[in-house]
Amino acid sequence: MGNADIIRDPGPRIHEILKGFVGTEEIGSFVNGEIVLGSGEELTLTDPSSGKPFATFKDADKSVIDGAMDAAASAQREWMKLTASGRGRVMNEIARKIRERSTDIAEIESRSAGRPIRDTRGEVVKVAEMFEYYAGWCDKLHGDVIPVPTSHLNYTRQEPIGVVVQITPWNAPLNTGGWQIAPAICAGNAVVIKPSELTPLSTIILGLLCEQGGAPRGLVNVIAGQGVTAGQAAVTHSKTGLVVFVGSAHAGALIAAAAARNVVPCILELGGKSANIVFGDADVDRAILGAQSAIFGGAGQSCVAGSRLLVHRSIHQQFVERYTAATEKIPVGDPYLDTTQIGPINNLRQWNKISEMVQQGIGEGAHLATGGRKPQQLEETGGFYFAPTILDNVSPDATISKEEVFGPVVGVTPFDTEEEAITLANNNPYGLAGAVWRQNVARGHRVASQVRAGTFWINGYKTISVMSPFGGFGKSGYGRSSGRDALLAYTQTKSIWVETAAEPTVTFGYFAG
Ligand code: NAD
Repeated sequence: MGNADIIRDPGPRIHEILKGFVGTEEIGSFVNGEIVLGSGEELTLTDPSSGKPFATFKDADKSVIDGAMDAAASAQREWMKLTASGRGRVMNEIARKIRERSTDIAEIESRSAGRPIRDTRGEVVKVAEMFEYYAGWCDKLHGDVIPVPTSHLNYTRQEPIGVVVQITPWNAPLNTGGWQIAPAICAGNAVVIKPSELTPLSTIILGLLCEQGGAPRGLVNVIAGQGVTAGQAAVTHSKTGLVVFVGSAHAGALIAAAAARNVVPCILELGGKSANIVFGDADVDRAILGAQSAIFGGAGQSCVAGSRLLVHRSIHQQFVERYTAATEKIPVGDPYLDTTQIGPINNLRQWNKISEMVQQGIGEGAHLATGGRKPQQLEETGGFYFAPTILDNVSPDATISKEEVFGPVVGVTPFDTEEEAITLANNNPYGLAGAVWRQNVARGHRVASQVRAGTFWINGYKTISVMSPFGGFGKSGYGRSSGRDALLAYTQTKSIWVETAAEPTVTFGYFAG
């Protein structure tokens, strides 16, 4: 598939791909190996590149959630009957299935979620790699033997939690789905995942491919439904053992509170307002490129977006001029064009929020260097395009310096000293990511150690890997979703004591010696 296939109304094509995977054009939840239709409110899927609705489906009702939880609980027991190496083999086979269907998966993600095809092609490969990485962990996840001061053999087991509920947002549904499902099943759990009601399709396909790769039917169930109805029902369900939430800080707090009432732990992957710091000794060409990918990749709909650009005053003016000129050349347009680097905003509500926040930023004294509106050449498409936007001389106290935009909008603030840059970077309740650009790498390490963020880059931005832990500090959440760290969150530790002495020294449960 390539540029020749640009379709002004992708609806029929989306249905065709979906039917090729799940055997029906009807959209519903993927529960226990079948598409199950909901009976709740009618929800609409809209093509972000044209603004046209292309499908409707009914919100998953309580019976769908109950069915998914029952199926997951039973599949989890089946899953644990396999050997650890056997589970690893299944996960490798899931990865193979994903690679085999990568063209169709990338196309459906691109057309239905609005992400540029050049991004989604890479994301499918990344998702396959997530399953491969955790396939390798299946038979290496073991406990310890602890040298206790009694006559016991004491050892630990990392046991699965059971049924994990995962809730994901609309910005990168396929990538986020793989990122969450792979460690969960590696650790022996079953999954009930609810993607955003705006972008459920690629996650439904992922659930199907898990089953086709050999996972027990019902091990991965995908709910097509809304947060406040279906999501809430899953979080508060009696069979839920862990909730993993990726989304806004507002919804995250509500979900964590609901989970706490159910005495269920949470991992929260929330938003950010990350600082990208450019010092006077930076390689400016690289820093400009980095500052573009930091905020404009994914049209800024990225949790790690470098939305606060702090630039040393000695290079501030020339940096902003060159950054602006380079930004105006970034190809914005149809996500299904090979050349497109910035696609549309996912939905109209978000487009309106971005536009309002830019106007507010200007109202609070920022200078609009470029962007701030829908690009003229895309006016007639009806798509939710927003031009990459640079606001210069943004006050650290302005709303746009404090609140997440979740769009292609960066605020530039000059600084004078290293100490001031660190203070500005930390002057925010979020703490998801950040970066520093400077040729003196030793000073880069120093800054890295002082900025409060879960991920930090020196002379780079946005590189993440399933092998490395990812998560937030502060209001960006807690818990880690990848690398070895995720496996600890997806398991619970059991301590086992075996008496080995002929004449035990422990009496009445206490160590007497
Ligand atoms: P959102 O919080 O509105 O929705 C996220 C998901 O939660 C959706 O599936 C939604 O249906 C569900 N939901 C909403 N309210 C709920 C409730 N009360 N109970 C149960 N489920 C509920 O977020 P969004 O607008 O879809 O996504 C944008 C946000 O996601 C941004 O803040 C962004 O930074 C964040 N995000 C974070 C990461 C990360 O890894 N830290 C990654 C991507 C996006």
